Amino acid sequence: MATPVLHTQGVTKAFGDQVALSPLDVEVMEGRIVGLLGPNGAGKTTLLRMVTGITKPDNGELKMWGEPHHRKLLSRMGYLPEERGLYKSMRVAEQVLYFATLRGMNRMEAERDLKGWFERLEVEGWWNREVADLSKGMAQKIQFIATVLHRPELLILDEPFSGLDPINAALVRGEMLRLVQEEGTTLVLSTHDMGSVEALCDEVILLHQGRKVLAGPTDTVREDARRGRIRVVMRGNLMAFVAELGARAELLSKSTSQGKSNEGQSVHQIEIALPDGWPMPDFLSWAVNHVEVLEAVPLKLSMEEVFVQSVESAGS
Ligand code: ATP
Repeated sequence: MATPVLHTQGVTKAFGDQVALSPLDVEVMEGRIVGLLGPNGAGKTTLLRMVTGITKPDNGELKMWGEPHHRKLLSRMGYLPEERGLYKSMRVAEQVLYFATLRGMNRMEAERDLKGWFERLEVEGWWNREVADLSKGMAQKIQFIATVLHRPELLILDEPFSGLDPINAALVRGEMLRLVQEEGTTLVLSTHDMGSVEALCDEVILLHQGRKVLAGPTDTVREDARRGRIRVVMRGNLMAFVAELGARAELLSKSTSQGKSNEGQSVHQIEIALPDGWPMPDFLSWAVNHVEVLEAVPLKLSMEEVFVQSVESAGS
């Protein structure tokens, strides 16, 4: 079996009385894009700071590439922290090159790669500008470049899209995907931006009050969380159907399309939540006795809905 890039077992962390992480087991495999999610104060940054060697677990085991965590592994990682840090008085390229050489990169190689990054992120004109002159979004792009320039195998990004407009966010997202697809980089992304999670993440880990409340492939968790919700497109007497449905299933929404179908009857769409004991095939066998079913599809929840539902059912 492949060795995980990151593996924690029973990791805990407390700050005085405040428990930041309860015994936590997480695993991140190579080449995956994993979204680390959770409400404010859930413990995300605490976990990322452990992975990047800033803090240590109180208990438990933290392994990187199958080895207990040690400082030499840090050169294999790139960390974009939530709190940004660029030296205001330095020039942009000079600063990024300085970071790259600190991380063991040869200056000429770093300069060549940096030119490529400046082109791809469309900041060519900023090479010699002072950091103090950068807008928030510009500084964010430069900091992203500083995080990836030394070609880390594991990229850890805390809110990488904050301050970026939709066009620049898409540009950075595209570069993240390219790194994963072309370089095999592993990416751990902590963000509250659920749209980016849906667009990017193969897997999610959702923390709440220091505990893992949900983990798995993004598509699977969105499907599993739907709790019997389906959309049915049908022709027939909607009122009578809804009355028949009664308390058997929860009606979430109903609508009727303006135009009539070829047969002169209106086409209706309803969204319902089937109870646990009434699987979709059984529901459909029942429904065709009352209306003409044109289409029936399971509804997938948005990541935002999954997030809210999981946190609410985990309680406080
Ligand atoms: P956010 O989404 O707001 O960034 P987070 O999930 O990253 O939140 P953490 O920063 O890991 O959350 O915080 C987890 C808990 O640990 C919180 O209750 C926080 O107050 C506490 N905590 C984190 N760092 C410290 C610290 N240095 N000293 C005291 N308490 C801390």
